[in-house]
Amino acid sequence: MNKDCIFCRIIDQEIPSQVIAEDNNVLVIKDINPQAPIHYLIIPKKHVVDIGALTVQDTHLASSLLLMAQKLSTFPGCDQFKLHSNNGPAAGQVVFHIHIHFLAGW
Ligand code: 5GP
Ligand code: ZN
Repeated sequence: MNKDCIFCRIIDQEIPSQVIAEDNNVLVIKDINPQAPIHYLIIPKKHVVDIGALTVQDTHLASSLLLMAQKLSTFPGCDQFKLHSNNGPAAGQVVFHIHIHFLAGW
């Protein structure tokens, strides 16, 4: 938990969000500023700043993110989808807690 991190505060329910799915390791919320008809954020519950900061101890966590995308793909309108993750400010990362954008619903 990082008190300065907006996604940690969402995970701790200090900040409200629309939760789509959840498991032990991962929370999925609606993006507040959607870039597609369906735009979800797949977020690990552990604070890790970006993909470069993952370690071998995070192997299960990392696979949980992808398996959550697979679960979301079974939801109505989500069978065809895009995933993207911005890593670093130059790549457009604004929130420094790993998240995968799940875009679907065209
Ligand atoms: P990034 O540019 O870091 O990859 O993406 C951050 C994403 O988080 C953006 O798409 C932005 O709309 C979303 N976002 C930022 N703050 C909030 C928030 O408080 N709630 C939700 N649901 N999404 C947020
Ligand atoms: Zn965080």
